[in-house]
Amino acid sequence: MSCLGDQVNSEKMYARHRRVLQTVSLAALLAYSALLAYQTLSRGLVDEEDVLTEKVARRRAPFDRSLHEDPSVAVTSEASSATATLRPPTTVLHDVFISVKTTKSYHRQRLPIILKTWFQLAKAQTWFFTDTDDPEFQLKTNGHMINTNCSSSHNRKALCCKMSVEFDTFIETDKKWFCHFDDDNYVNVPRLVRFLGDYNPREDWYLGKPSIQAPLEIINKEKKHTQKIKFWFATGGAGFCLSRALALKMMPVASGGKFISTGEKIRLPDDVTMGYIIEHLLKKPLTVVDQFHSHLEPMKFIRREILEDQISFSYARNKDEWNVVKIEGFDTKYDTNRFLSLHCFLFPHFNFCPR
Ligand code: UDP
Ligand code: MN
Repeated sequence: MSCLGDQVNSEKMYARHRRVLQTVSLAALLAYSALLAYQTLSRGLVDEEDVLTEKVARRRAPFDRSLHEDPSVAVTSEASSATATLRPPTTVLHDVFISVKTTKSYHRQRLPIILKTWFQLAKAQTWFFTDTDDPEFQLKTNGHMINTNCSSSHNRKALCCKMSVEFDTFIETDKKWFCHFDDDNYVNVPRLVRFLGDYNPREDWYLGKPSIQAPLEIINKEKKHTQKIKFWFATGGAGFCLSRALALKMMPVASGGKFISTGEKIRLPDDVTMGYIIEHLLKKPLTVVDQFHSHLEPMKFIRREILEDQISFSYARNKDEWNVVKIEGFDTKYDTNRFLSLHCFLFPHFNFCPR
């Protein structure tokens, strides 16, 4: 009897164990299925979100006023959308090195308007290359004046000397893009950054705008026989950009003062020397970018509707006539070169802009 009782007991226990095991297995199975379902569902949602971000990013017009109102937002929001869509990382303001060529007699005349307007959108990225120490402007630019110790005249050697220092300073940074401008340029900073986002800085890019209709032809007497060579160059007065990859390839002929000796050899200005090095020596073509503007072209022909899409502007006084951007805004007596009005048109949230 006791033996039978033991058997019944052990059978009962066995059945209980089996039920417990079954319940546990079922629970585990249910939990696993729930997890699988959740994962599939959430992946689907993320995918959908990605597609959505992608669509929004692609559909974005060349100019989006809501983003332009806060340029830093425009730049970072593009960067984050790029991350979400798993596209290569987009260019951000931090990736750009902006150099402005100036000279001591132009500090008071040309720098204040830059400092009041577009410099405010790229304070950490913009550097002024000059030919003297100027404590007043050193303070106003938060220490961003660089004395190149180059001569303060407008001759070829002095200009190539400044470009040489600009180039060397860029090489020492970790920036992806080198963009040069003159001190009579207005730079539409967020537009510049967005524009560079379309190009890969690990590839060779020479981006700018020529001011002549055909490539420049020069006689090269470097070798024993004279040789006719042709090349394009981007006008320095409109601004131009070089990718880091290209700048690194230029180093043997452009860094450590070699830009000056190369310029001396062909006896041409800094921007022409740049074209000679890139197009002729390195055989890398200039990519023409219509959105860069020097005062060699009439500013008044840039239509109001496309102002926001332009990267740089300039101004000049030819005898009694001003070549300036045509834009309503401040009185011409107060805003002769129109940069203040242009700035308020592009970035109306600035505190000096009319509300
Ligand atoms: N510049 C210079 N040294 C000079 C004169 C001019 O570095 O002795 C710079 C100036 O600051 C500007 C550029 O060269 O960035 C072009 O100067 P400017 O507009 O006077 O002449 P442009 O060549 O445009 O007629
Ligand atoms: Mn000029």
